[in-house]
This record gives sequence, C-alpha cells and structure tokens, in this order.
Amino acid sequence: MNGAPTETEKEMSNSPNLKSADLVVIGGGIIGCWTALHLARAGKQVCVVEKAEIAHNGSGRNRGNVRVQLREAVERDLINRSLVLWQGFEESARTTVEYRVTGNLLVSYDETLTADFQIEVDRHRAIGLDAHIVEGAALRELVPHISPDIVAGFLTTQDGHVNGQLATWEAARQAKLAGVRFLRGTAADLIEHDHGKVTAVQTSAGRIATESVLVAAAGDSVRLLEPLGIKTPISLALHQILVTEKLPFVTGPYLRCASPRISFCQTASGTLLLGLGPASDIAPDAPQRVEPSKIEAIARETIRLVPALKDAHIVRSWSGLFDLTPDGRAMIGPAEHVSGLWIATGFNGHGMAIAPSVTESLAQAILGETPTVSLDPFAPVRFERPLDIEASDEPVSRVGHLGNLVAPPIQ
Ligand SMILES: Cc1cc2nc3c(=O)[nH]c(=O)nc-3n(C[C@H](O)[C@H](O)[C@H](O)COP(=O)(O)OP(=O)(O)OC[C@H]3O[C@@H](n4cnc5c(N)ncnc54)[C@H](O)[C@@H]3O)c2cc1C
Repeated sequence: MNGAPTETEKEMSNSPNLKSADLVVIGGGIIGCWTALHLARAGKQVCVVEKAEIAHNGSGRNRGNVRVQLREAVERDLINRSLVLWQGFEESARTTVEYRVTGNLLVSYDETLTADFQIEVDRHRAIGLDAHIVEGAALRELVPHISPDIVAGFLTTQDGHVNGQLATWEAARQAKLAGVRFLRGTAADLIEHDHGKVTAVQTSAGRIATESVLVAAAGDSVRLLEPLGIKTPISLALHQILVTEKLPFVTGPYLRCASPRISFCQTASGTLLLGLGPASDIAPDAPQRVEPSKIEAIARETIRLVPALKDAHIVRSWSGLFDLTPDGRAMIGPAEHVSGLWIATGFNGHGMAIAPSVTESLAQAILGETPTVSLDPFAPVRFERPLDIEASDEPVSRVGHLGNLVAPPIQ
C-alpha cells in the first residue's frame, strides 16, 4: 500500500453521537466512499461505517489496472464511462490520484498465441477500441528490456492506471466535504428490519436509525446479508503483491504475460507492483499471508520476462482478497425482500477500474433516477431466481478468458 495521505487522514475525524442518517453505508472502500459522495451531493444525510480504516482492504491493496482489454461484454459500458469519470476525478483531486492512460499489453512466450492475439485485436476493433499486434522494435519501445523469447504482444491503448489508495482517500475526503459523516474503526454488526423494511444498523459504537443501508463490505458482506435471508454466494481468493524500489522506465503499459500469468505495472512514482495469477482460494477466516513460495515464483517469472530486473530490490509485499461470485459479475442493486437495503459487492478482483461508473449509477438508482449505465445484469437477486439477462460474448480466442483473474491456465 502506498501510505494514506496523512493530511487527509487528519481531516477525516469521526462524527460523534450519530443516532440517525438517511442512508448508512457499510464499508469505507472505493465503492462505499464514492457512492456516499454522490448521495451527499444530491442532498442526502449519509454516514459511512468502516470497521478498520478507509482503503484498508481491496481498495488500498490493488494494482490500479483500469483495464479495458478483455473486459466482459456486460461491463463494457461501465468501463467506458469510468474512463471519462477517472479523468475528471484526477482533475478534481486536491493533489493527484495518479490516474494516467497507459494501455494494457498482453504478451506470450508461445508463438502459437499470436493468432489468438490477432483474433482479439479484430474483436476489440469491432467494438470501437484501439488495438494492435506489437512485435520487434515496437514491442521493445514499450518494454525496452523484455525477454528476447517474447515474440509478440496484444496492445490496447485506452486502458488507464490509478493509485487505488489515493483514489479512495480522495473520494472519502470529497465525501466528507460534501457532508458525509464517517465512523472509522466502527463495525456494523447487524442490519435491523421490521415488516420487510430496514430500520437501523447496530454498530460497535451504537445504533443508527435509518431507512436505507448500502452494504459495500466486499467479502464481509456475506456476514451482514445472510442473516437477512439474502443468498450471497461469495468466495474468496488471495492475491499477493511484491513492490520494487523506484526504477527507471521499465514499461509504459500494464504488462501481462498470458502464461505463466505474471504481470506488473509501473506506478507514477516508478515502483513496480508485481503479481502472479491465478489467485488462490482461501477460507473466510484464514490468515492472509504472503507466502515465501509465491514470492520466489513472482521474482523468478518477473526476471524471466524482463531479465534486466534481476538486480531490482523488493521493498515491500502484501496480500489482498478478491471477492468472487459464481458468474464473475459483481452483485449491485437492491435486495428484493428487504426494502431500503442495497448491495454492492463481489467485484471479482477488478472493481477499482469500474468504481466511478458503478457508484454513479448505483447512487442514481438509490435516488430513484434512471442510472447512466444499467446495472440490471448485476442484480443480486439473480442468485435466487434466473433473470432474463443478455448472454455475455463467449471468448473467441484462447486468451479471451484472461479478464477473469481466477480462470484456469490456457489450454
Ligand atoms: C491484490 C489486489 C489487486 C487488485 N488489482 C486490481 C486492479 O488492478 N484493478 C482493479 O480494477 N481492481 C483490482 N483489485 C480489486 C479492487 O481492489 C476491488 O474490487 C475494489 O477495491 C473493491 O472495493 P470495495 O469498496 O468493494 O471493497 P473494499 O475496498 O474491500 O472495502 C470494503 C470495506 O468494508 C469494510 N468492512 C467489512 N465488514 C465491515 C463491517 N461489518 N462493518 C464496517 N466495515 C466493514 C472493510 O474493512 C473494507 O474497508 C485488486 C484487489 C486486490 C486485493
């Protein structure tokens, strides 16, 4: 994690004696903070309850890939809208959230995958994206020291990169300015309801009366929703990250290898955030360790991909959880049987990228307005009864499924 901005942290004092709110948001990640911001700007009295700290979990531990490449069809409008909103957010930030357009580059040691890259270039162009095969000097301009064993890459150029930690604190800071009240270090324990309507949230700091609750607590949402009879089929996977010292230019785009799934980005400050997929399953209460065997594998495969990195120093490591749903899509929308209850969870390891448009459309839905981007394909109720949702496009190449971060290796 890149360290919480202390100036902002000081400004984020807790609101004392909070007894009621129009809406209680449970979870101070990017989804909770940014939705709260939209709703406060629309005149609602909002309170965010965060059991640990702003950006303590996924939102402060991610790699900030605002990936357009290999995005599932149902998320395309969300990512396209988010690209615009990220740019505006960067411009409105007090300092910076380090949002930049960087592109994504998928490479392979396996020459036969070049044909699959070409299929994806054609498919991406057909939906209006800028996509290319890059080889030879063009490839080496993007990643000068890439292994000579890498022959070709699939490049998309509209993808972005952001610092998730800074972005979440900035959303919280703007929310506080807009009137959102924060209770940090406060756990929501129970959502009270009466005759099918939300009435209050019991927290470790007391009871908050409310008619509306948004559960944006990532994997912990299960504990809050299942007592209300809401089916929440979320499983967890652990992803591990190594951080290098600040380095001179290594890569422009976010670099991913198709197999093995080593990947990294170079942050605005010059560090590399290294990782190796797929993420591994983990039980909800298991300790989140950085495994020595994983560290070795990440280091080995990074050096194989860019041999010049053999002398780079690792300065930090951390692990973080992906909250996964059976169909790979987030659960976003109202709970059907409890009026006033809203859900936004299960972002499958890529929620930072789409957070701007998810939170914009979710806030609109909560306000009873028509969302800019329809959230129907993400309706939580789909796990209780099948919905008539347009089928997603099937992967047409052997790399098409790599947008799914826990997908099996390429066959
Ligand atoms: C290692 C890693 C790399 C990633 N890389 C990327 C990437 O490159 N691009 C991308 O788009 N996404 C990425 N992601 C995913 C992305 O970070 C998440 O999808 C996104 O941050 C989810 O935000 P959130 O607000 O839903 O959850 P979180 O940020 O996890 O926030 C949930 C909050 O709820 C709080 N909470 C839980 N229970 C309670 C309770 N009972 N009471 C009060 N508070 C509670 C938690 O403390 C937490 O702060 C990555 C994730 C990880 C872990």
